[in-house]
Amino acid sequence: MALTDPVSVLSGVGPKRQAALASLGLNTIGDLLFYFPFRYADLQVKDLATAADQEKLTVKGIVVADPVVTRFGPRKNRLNVRLQIDNMVVMVTFFNQPWLKDKFSQGVEAAIYGKWDAKRKTMTGMKVLATQTADEPSLAGVYPANKNIRQKTIADLVKEAYAREGQQIPEIVPAGLRQRYKLLTDQQIIHGMHWPKSGQEAHAARRSAIFREFFLFECQIQALRLDNDATQNGLAIPFDNQQLRALISTLPFALTAAQKRVVNEICADMRSPHHMNRLLQGDVGSGKTIVAAIVMYAAVTARYQAALMVPTEVLAEQHYAKLTKTFADFPVQIALLTGSTPTKARRETLAGLASGAIDIVIGTHALIQKGVDFAALGLAIIDEQHRFGVQQRKIIQEKGLKPDLLAMTATPIPRTLAITTYGEMDVSTIDELPAGRQPITTTWVRRNQLSGAFKRIHAELAAGHQVFAITPLIAESEKIDLQNAEQLYADMQATFGQEATVALLHGQMKPDEKEAIMRAFDAGETRILVSTTVVEVGVDVPNATVMLIMDADRFGLAQLHQLRGRVGRGQAAAYCILVADPKNEMGVERMQTMVTTNDGFKLAEKDLELRGSGDIFGDKQSGLPEFRVADPVTDFATLQAAQQSAAALFQADQTLSAAEFAPLRAWLARQQQSLGSLD
Ligand code: ADP
Ligand code: MG
Repeated sequence: MALTDPVSVLSGVGPKRQAALASLGLNTIGDLLFYFPFRYADLQVKDLATAADQEKLTVKGIVVADPVVTRFGPRKNRLNVRLQIDNMVVMVTFFNQPWLKDKFSQGVEAAIYGKWDAKRKTMTGMKVLATQTADEPSLAGVYPANKNIRQKTIADLVKEAYAREGQQIPEIVPAGLRQRYKLLTDQQIIHGMHWPKSGQEAHAARRSAIFREFFLFECQIQALRLDNDATQNGLAIPFDNQQLRALISTLPFALTAAQKRVVNEICADMRSPHHMNRLLQGDVGSGKTIVAAIVMYAAVTARYQAALMVPTEVLAEQHYAKLTKTFADFPVQIALLTGSTPTKARRETLAGLASGAIDIVIGTHALIQKGVDFAALGLAIIDEQHRFGVQQRKIIQEKGLKPDLLAMTATPIPRTLAITTYGEMDVSTIDELPAGRQPITTTWVRRNQLSGAFKRIHAELAAGHQVFAITPLIAESEKIDLQNAEQLYADMQATFGQEATVALLHGQMKPDEKEAIMRAFDAGETRILVSTTVVEVGVDVPNATVMLIMDADRFGLAQLHQLRGRVGRGQAAAYCILVADPKNEMGVERMQTMVTTNDGFKLAEKDLELRGSGDIFGDKQSGLPEFRVADPVTDFATLQAAQQSAAALFQADQTLSAAEFAPLRAWLARQQQSLGSLD
C-alpha cells in the first residue's frame, strides 16, 4: 500500500467510479488525501433561548438517550431523539426516516436543522447536518464535486484513504523548511484540512498546505531550469554584430538604455547554445517592436529565419508595413501570412519559407497551422503574448529546429509575480519610455459632460492631429456592438464631420476592408477612427493624440491602459478621455485609478487588487498556473518564500542527493512521468 496506489483499491470503486474520480484529477490515494475541501459547512448554531416559535434553525447537542422509532401506519413512523442542548433537553422528531436511528446512539454530538416549537419545547427534524462522536471533528468539509460523483462519496473515500495510509505519509517538505516557516507535517495538513475541529485548525492547516503547494511548484520550475541548462539543446546563433550596428544606426531615433540592455540580453541568449525562453515585458509604447526587429535581423545575419506572430490581422499588417520600411536598405526578404492572405500569395510564401528564400515572416495564428514549414527557423517571437495560449507558444516553439523563443507582453504582470510564476522563462523588462514623450492626460467625464470633452477634440483636430473613439465589445451580442459603434460613428460624424473625415472600423468587416480603413487612418487621410476594440493591441499611429473611450467602466484597467497607450506616441501632448457612469464603487475606483496613474505595472497591481487574479489574466490559458489551495496573488508573500526556498535548495544540492530529500525527489520524478505520458 502506498500513496501512489490507484483509487480502485478502495471499497466500492469500480471502473465507473474510478473514471468519475479521474474526471476530477483523482487517480491515486495520494490525490484523494490532498483533495481538500474548498470550504466548511457553516453550522451557525442558534441559541434556543432566543428562537421564535416555528422558526427554522440549526441546533447542536448531545444525544442523551437511545432513539425510539414508533410506527403508526403502514409507511408512517416517527423517530424521537432526546438531545441535550446547553442545559435543556429537547425532543427532536423525524417523520418517516427510521434509518436515521443508527446515527444517534447515546453520547453522539449531532447538528440538526429543523423547525422549533417554542410552546412544547420540541423540534421537527428536517435534516441531519453532522453527527460525530465526541473526539471527531466539528466542521464538515465541502468538496469540489461534479455531476459524475457526489460530494459525500468523495468525503467517504477520503476517510477510507486516510484510514489506510494516514500513518505512513512521507514528508515532502524538508524538515529545515518546516521548522523555519513553522509548518505542519503532511499528515497534520491532511488531517487538519479534512477534519478540523475548529476554524483555527483549518486555517493553520491551510497555511501549511499553501506553502507546500507553492514549494512543490517552484521545485518543478527549478528542475525544469536545470534541465534546460544541462541539455544545451538550443540553437547557437552566431549573428554578426557589425551588421546589427549598421541597422541600428539607420533608425530615426536612438535606442533607450533599456532597449539596448534588453537587446543585449536577448542576443546573448541567441548566441549561446542554451535554448532561449524569454519574456520581454514593456509598458505600452516602450518600443518593443524595434527590439523585435533588431533581434530578428540578428538571426538573419546568421542565416536563420525569424517569425513574428501577432494576435490580429490589423496588427500583422501594420508590423509588416513598419518592418518593410525598417529593412528597406537591407538584404532582407519579408513576408506577411494571415488567414486572409490570398491563395496565390500564400502558396508563394509557404514555398519561400520552406526553401529559405524568405528571411522574416510576420503573421497571425496562420503561422502555426499545419503546412507552414521553415527551412531554418531560428527565432520565434510572439507579440502580445497574453493573447495567445500556452499551447500556441509551445507549437511555434516546436517548429523545425526548436527555435529560440521570445514572448513579448505589455499586459504587465507585476514584475515579482512574473518571476515567480514564469520562473521557467527568463524575463527582460523595458522599464523606460523613449525620451520626449509627453505624459498622457487622462480625464474622466460622465455622459452628460460629453460636450465639454468634445472641445478638446475640436482643438486637437485644429492642430492637425487624429482621434480614436472606442466603444466596448460586448461579447454576448455582436449586434449590439455594431449598433453602438454605428451610433458613435453617427454622433462623431454629426459633431466633427465639418472639420474631419470620420471612419468606422468594426469586427464584422472583411479583413481587406479593415486593412483599407486602417491604412487610411495611418496615412492621415481619415482623422477620426471610430472602432470597437480591434485597435486595442499594438496599433501605432503617432499622430493620434486623443483616445476617447465610451462606457469606459466596461473595460478592465489593463485593457484601458492598452487603449490609452495608442496615443502619446509622438512628440505632441496626448489625451485620454474616459466616458463612464459607473454603477458601483469599484467602477468609480477604476476610473479614478486611470486618471491618477500612467504606470502600467502599478495599474496591473491595482487591477489584481480590485478584481482578483481570475480576471486580469482572462481565460485560464493566460499562462498563470492554477493552484489548488494557494492563490498566487493573495498568497504572494508565501509564493515568494517558497520560490526562495526552492532556489536555495537546488543551489545547495542540485540533484537533491541527500537522504532527507528522497520523498521530494521521488515526487518530482513522478510529475515528470505523468507529464511525459500525456504526449
Ligand atoms: P510597444 O512596446 O507598445 O509595442 P512600439 O514598439 O509600438 O511600442 O513603439 C511605440 C512608438 O515608439 C513607435 O512609434 C516607435 O517607432 C517609437 N519608438 C520606439 N523606440 C523609440 C526610441 N528609442 N526613441 C523614440 N521613439 C521610439
Ligand atoms: Mg507592440
